[in-house]
Amino acid sequence: MNDSAPIPASFRTSGTNLTRAKTHNHRVVLEVIRTRGPIGRTEISEITSLSRQTVQNIVGELQSRGVVEMKAQEARGRGHPGMTVQLKPDHAFSLGFHVDRLSVTATACDLHGRIVWQSGGSLDAATPAAANDRIIALAEDFRVAEPDLAPRLLGAGLAAPGPFDPAGKTGTSADATAFSEFGSPANLGRLQETLRLPVVLQNDASAAALGEHVYGLGRRYTSFAFIQFGMGLGAGLVLNGALYAGASRNAGEIGHVMVDPDGPSCSCGNHGCLERYLSLNALCEKLGLEPTAHASVGRIEALFEAGDPAVLGWIDTVAPLTRQMVSIVDRMLDPEAIILGGIIRPDFLQAILDRAAPLPRRLDGAPQSGRIHIGTSGASAVALGATAVAVDALFAPSVSHLLL
Ligand SMILES: [Zn+2]
Repeated sequence: MNDSAPIPASFRTSGTNLTRAKTHNHRVVLEVIRTRGPIGRTEISEITSLSRQTVQNIVGELQSRGVVEMKAQEARGRGHPGMTVQLKPDHAFSLGFHVDRLSVTATACDLHGRIVWQSGGSLDAATPAAANDRIIALAEDFRVAEPDLAPRLLGAGLAAPGPFDPAGKTGTSADATAFSEFGSPANLGRLQETLRLPVVLQNDASAAALGEHVYGLGRRYTSFAFIQFGMGLGAGLVLNGALYAGASRNAGEIGHVMVDPDGPSCSCGNHGCLERYLSLNALCEKLGLEPTAHASVGRIEALFEAGDPAVLGWIDTVAPLTRQMVSIVDRMLDPEAIILGGIIRPDFLQAILDRAAPLPRRLDGAPQSGRIHIGTSGASAVALGATAVAVDALFAPSVSHLLL
């Protein structure tokens, strides 16, 4: 896994004082606290193989710097409840920007994923320049609205629809759901300079996966796939405790897996891609709605709630493809869990899963039930996940694999 590529070099020398982790041991302990806290010091010692005294010293130092705090353990059965350690939530904040071709949603979170500020705005044009302008304006809004929190910003995470241009060049993708040139290194560099913050980009599915990994359901798992059901269809992959972004940050583009070689052409240049059938874009086409994230999703949700036969019929027709999708993810990755999320209400996603039952059995013969979940963050998963992109990058993902 190449874990240095997605992080701008300047990230490591940013002005934040959150992780002045002096030693390798400090970073490892901090990573355990971040990913598994609240956690007891004895358990940290067991996981890291560091002596209890060393862990105690490091935790004490992190505490004195205000990075972590002690918390009384919830009493379980008999015996004295001990103390656990967790990140101090208001020690730092991250800004996340969910960027699509129409709008930008900005979210600021503390280290526990509690949203402290949210705003958004539409784009004047579907161009990277317009997205940049909006992001810069929203960041300024945050600094004005929350002057006490702004100095504690540790970075900005960006989530934008993939696929990204593999070479980081500009504007080669004609994908209706793509925003490839936005993710070019030159553009990210400009943004980083103007925002005066480390900037990290992931595709929207990877960002949502990180959101679950850092704040949500994914905290329970070391390896899981997050499937983002949006205008396109993508997956974010957390493998062995770290996001797997892929060589060109396009891992998990399951929407562009070919399921019918004779199927309709896809904007990626191939034919019969999964998302030509299984995505909100495909449903919009079926219903004669404009494939725009804002107006049409609300319309689909209203139709779904009213039991509209066209929407329910579509859910039935995609059931075989849903089974195929689960089968592909399961066979390729053997994850502990598959989490389904997206920009539409959770009961719609649940209906897709329910109508696809029974899902293909696992290779060990066990049923999939209990292993597939609906994401915890709902439609805000990507925006929240964008903040997690910054948090995850800051906390030195290179140490994640040491825990396993
Ligand atoms: Zn395609």
